[in-house]
Amino acid sequence: MINPVRPAKRRISILGSTGSIGRNTLDVMSHLGDREAFEVPAITGKDNIDLLVRQARQTGAGFAVTADPERYNDLKSALAGTGIEAGAGPAALIEAGLRDTDLLLAGIVGIAGLAPTLAAVAGGADIALANKECLVSAGDLFTSAMAKGGGKLLPVDSEHNAIFQVLEENQRQAVERIILTASGGPFRDHTREQMAAVTPELAAAHPNWSMGVKISIDSASMFNKALEMIEARHLFDVRPDQIEVIIHPQSIIHSMVGYCDGSVLAQLGVPDMRHAIGYAISHPRRRNLPVERLDFAKLARLDFTAPDEIRFPSLALARTAMQRGGLQGAILNGAKEAALEAFIAGQIGFLDMADIVAATMDRLDDGRAAHSIEDVYAADREARAVAVAVMRESA
Ligand code: NAD
Ligand code: MG
Repeated sequence: MINPVRPAKRRISILGSTGSIGRNTLDVMSHLGDREAFEVPAITGKDNIDLLVRQARQTGAGFAVTADPERYNDLKSALAGTGIEAGAGPAALIEAGLRDTDLLLAGIVGIAGLAPTLAAVAGGADIALANKECLVSAGDLFTSAMAKGGGKLLPVDSEHNAIFQVLEENQRQAVERIILTASGGPFRDHTREQMAAVTPELAAAHPNWSMGVKISIDSASMFNKALEMIEARHLFDVRPDQIEVIIHPQSIIHSMVGYCDGSVLAQLGVPDMRHAIGYAISHPRRRNLPVERLDFAKLARLDFTAPDEIRFPSLALARTAMQRGGLQGAILNGAKEAALEAFIAGQIGFLDMADIVAATMDRLDDGRAAHSIEDVYAADREARAVAVAVMRESA
């Protein structure tokens, strides 16, 4: 008798498994088949060691890494006897990216995700990309590394995932515009005076999506949309003037593509990141996902308004960064990170963030290009330092 051949397990590593995207990914994977269907070569987290250990045990991960070297002993002792390797710090994160995998879910927040994600890119893995800062800060380097590595780049950011779903590969030359939808966040209808007085707690409370703290505040300032404009430029190879933003408070249309014949194709669904994640990790198939189905009768209406760039200056900053090119994306992101941290710490006001980013981008507008990942990290560090100096000067 011939033994039935078991299909090989699909290997999926997760950078940032303990975060909002990482937890949703594991939830989707357990829905799609769990340990029978998947092997998990590596997972990574930072502060939440208990959760990282639980996830490692549940998935039977090969390698579990904390970004914090001081937590190495905690992680190692909690994994003793499981056969799961422990690692810590930046080199171990890169090592996690280098572990052989079919697909890597890039779910770290911020520029810290760039080096480990690029390690997996070079190894030829498909990349399901949530970590938008990779493209914002290192767009051209990242896309050419992807082309060299040979893996597929699958966007997880809901807007870009939507565009990916409706962008017909053989009709790329017919694409006229990309329309990114934005909920407008919790301060959509606030005046500038009201916005000047908001707290980090209010800013972190997103009306539709449940996400990590930083991206929630970035949604309130629309810096998240600014990053997404730059992300779209690199993902879909469109010019800055082809990228539009429209406020759509219900977050049901996740984004749209307009073609040269006047047709607009949209992707719709409930605001639930498990959809975009499930689509990316199942691609090119569509599989049954544990997300609520749309009920149009209940929805009744979808609203749209043009974004107000006076109240949300971040959108114009994204356009400036795209026009200037080079390292301006990395500088925008680094300055934004520094300003965001200062806002969270209560040192600056909500509206100060955009002013600080604008001033930093202007001071570092010297036409420098990104030749290597080191250039990107250096620009990021410099932008943070200049942003801190700008804050000190205006304090
Ligand atoms: P999160 O804060 O919930 O999780 C971040 C993850 O990264 C955690 O596992 C954390 O341990 C890890 N991490 C944090 N700092 C790190 C560091 N310095 N080095 C290594 N690892 C570190 O964030 P999130 O909301 O899951 O977002 C992750 C990424 O996905 C971000 O780039 C975000 O913009 C993007 N994204 C998130 C959503 C969402 O719904 N949450 C939607 C679209 C895009
Ligand atoms: Mg998004």
